[in-house]
Amino acid sequence: MNILVCAKQVPSSGEVRLDPDTGTIIRDGCEAVINPFDSHALEAALCLRERLGGTVSVLSMGIPACADMLRDCVARGADQTLLLTDRAFAGADTLATSYALSLGVSALGGFDLILCGRMAVDGDTAQIGPELSERLGIPCVCDVFAIEPQQDALVVRRETDDGAEQVRVPLPALLTVTRELGVPRMPSIDGVARSLRHDVRTLSCAEAGADPEKCGLSGSPTQVLSTAAPQGRGRAQTLADAGQLCTLLREVLE
Ligand SMILES: Cc1cc2nc3c(=O)[nH]c(=O)nc-3n(C[C@H](O)[C@H](O)[C@H](O)COP(=O)(O)OP(=O)(O)OC[C@H]3O[C@@H](n4cnc5c(N)ncnc54)[C@H](O)[C@@H]3O)c2cc1C
Repeated sequence: MNILVCAKQVPSSGEVRLDPDTGTIIRDGCEAVINPFDSHALEAALCLRERLGGTVSVLSMGIPACADMLRDCVARGADQTLLLTDRAFAGADTLATSYALSLGVSALGGFDLILCGRMAVDGDTAQIGPELSERLGIPCVCDVFAIEPQQDALVVRRETDDGAEQVRVPLPALLTVTRELGVPRMPSIDGVARSLRHDVRTLSCAEAGADPEKCGLSGSPTQVLSTAAPQGRGRAQTLADAGQLCTLLREVLE
């Protein structure tokens, strides 16, 4: 089974800086990690490859520094990577992001299965998976926490508001996955050696054959009206005894 994982690099801490003019996240110079849900998607892909054979590719759209995240995916076992990177992609909303990613999928070739995270922990829209499947004309199942392969299909279990449901989906298909799909493995020594030799393939807007009007800010109908950095939580207070707790509760209740 040939599997593609879409992986997004996100800021690693709560110290998110916002550009006051555009309202977008300043990603340059910010410590970054793979979106946690995407590392679970990668783990699920590697487990399926171990059972069924095939390849695992990883696709990302982002700044050139995302190549490090893709190399880390190789260290964990991915076979192939592609990074869509160009100033023309900057400022993309989900419509423009899914457009660019759909061209990345075409550049890499056909896949039996595409895995996305349930959502990105910075953008948080959970729209990319469904939008990408729509653009590719393949079925999509969201919030999947268990995958069982069958011939030409998968039986998957997905979270719902009031429990879970089981769905049979024909391949090729796209799934968005939760954290329950296995603990992401550590890089192996062989994998690290391979990742050091690995050249991350990159494509610019022109090389991907993208229409610049459909990319980045130009291709984004979503307008951010205002943004605000999250408020830090209050400092924790250590209480010496129950008496102090009673005093504190009295102050709060009065
Ligand atoms: C108006 C607007 C302007 C923006 N400007 C910028 C900007 O200047 N710079 C910037 O970096 N971001 C910007 N963003 C945010 C960025 O484009 C979104 O993060 C992106 O559209 C994905 O949406 P999301 O984070 O909500 O992903 P979700 O839909 O929550 O992500 C679900 C899954 O889709 C996949 N996925 C999402 N994004 C990517 C990606 N880039 N590459 C590979 N896989 C991916 C991952 O598997 C992820 O787990 C902007 C968003 C808006 C609305």
